[in-house]
Amino acid sequence: MSENFKDGFHDECGVFGIYGHAEAARMAYLGLYQLQHRGQESCGIVASDSDVLRSERAMGLVSEVFNEERLNRLPGASAIGHTRYSTAGEVSIREAQPFLIACKHGQVAVCHNGNLPFATEERKRLEREGAIFSSTSDTEVVLHGIARSRAGTIEEAIPETLCETEGAFSMLFLTPDSLIAVRDPRGFRPLALGRLGDAWVVASETCAFDLIDATYVRDVEPGEMVTITSEGMRSSFPLPRRRRSFCIFEHVYFSRPDSIIYGRSVNESRHKMGKRLAVEQPADAQIVLPVPDSGVAAAIGYASQSGLPFRFGLVRNHYVGRTFIEPKQSIRSFGVRLKLNPVRDLIQGKRVVLIDDSIVRGTTSKKIVRLVREAGAREVHVRISCPPTVSPCYYGVDTPDKSELIAARMNVEEVCRFIEADSLGYLSMEGMLEACGFPSDTSCVACWTGDYPTRISANAETQYAREHEPVPSD
Ligand code: AMP
Repeated sequence: MSENFKDGFHDECGVFGIYGHAEAARMAYLGLYQLQHRGQESCGIVASDSDVLRSERAMGLVSEVFNEERLNRLPGASAIGHTRYSTAGEVSIREAQPFLIACKHGQVAVCHNGNLPFATEERKRLEREGAIFSSTSDTEVVLHGIARSRAGTIEEAIPETLCETEGAFSMLFLTPDSLIAVRDPRGFRPLALGRLGDAWVVASETCAFDLIDATYVRDVEPGEMVTITSEGMRSSFPLPRRRRSFCIFEHVYFSRPDSIIYGRSVNESRHKMGKRLAVEQPADAQIVLPVPDSGVAAAIGYASQSGLPFRFGLVRNHYVGRTFIEPKQSIRSFGVRLKLNPVRDLIQGKRVVLIDDSIVRGTTSKKIVRLVREAGAREVHVRISCPPTVSPCYYGVDTPDKSELIAARMNVEEVCRFIEADSLGYLSMEGMLEACGFPSDTSCVACWTGDYPTRISANAETQYAREHEPVPSD
């Protein structure tokens, strides 16, 4: 593996697909607009006019990348699209999805949400055998498998390859005459199926359906392959059965609160997490302040349970990218101040309970606590609507290496001191799972326990550490 292969893991992504709509690419564009929070680095759409697949991909936000001219270059009644964020290493258009290739099965496009922890090993093996890669992405490894498969059709080649693939994949494939959606047998990442008139739609989150007036039908099930052609929709379960491992962090932070994820409202989960947090971790405070936007629903729950008034005491500037997309610590710190501004007269002289969804490195939390104190708060009590984050995710959510996760190095008291809060309390694992409505035996909670549902290759761990080089804390 070359040193350039830095960017293959840790994508946070959104996928959208549509089949049977006269304006497929435009619908994909609208769907991707709603999935922008899942990835802000690059985006792309591949459309089919039943004969030829055409691709438009670029670095940037959906609103920056697509215009009339670009969408006009994507005729046809089916399309898939992708929004992508990757944390480190080489950031280039070569990594932007969907990937479009030609092989013995004809043209195939793919887009992927998730991560494949064994992709590096597989890639090395393929390279030794003479394979050529045009990106550093783990998704390309799957394409090689499909291209090399002895199966007669693409519909057989996809499951044959994915049966051998460990990890998290919610994937969409587009061929000139079909759209195929596959979800890994553990169902790490979400994938929802919907209808728009006679057309079928598939998306990472149901909020993508709302804008185009599509109706959520159900999820693509873990291990399911949904094939949509002019004959209609067919479902099959070609992948081996595994214990379900729904990513709970989707409900805690990653998904939008207006989405239904794994059949459950994200807003409802967050609200209940907040209520439960108030029971488990009460605070001697006068007002409840959310860290916007991710802490809002939990803060409303906390306020309603505790009887304390909810106040929008931090105003977020929505025209700044999410802090975590900034590559350098200096910019990150700057970003916090740029992004959040306190409302002094709400905070002045008050004992405040600040609600956020998670603490990762602790650096942002520390700055927010300072900000609230500088705005005149008498006391700042921090409450977090999930347990301490102690292990990195190898399944598609960006988290830093373990050495940088503050809760992996410090106990709650020490974290509290580091972020300079008057008190700190986390929601328990039991409380979080109960609030989300998912039992522990159908959930992936590895970021809070270090107990991974799949094997993790040593290679993936070293690579992860290399990609997430330590950032000095202040
Ligand atoms: P910090 O205090 O530096 O650990 O940052 C905590 C903030 O990061 C919280 O407001 C979280 O909403 C946010 N956060 C949590 N997980 C992630 C993630 N995977 N990517 C970006 N931001 C995140």
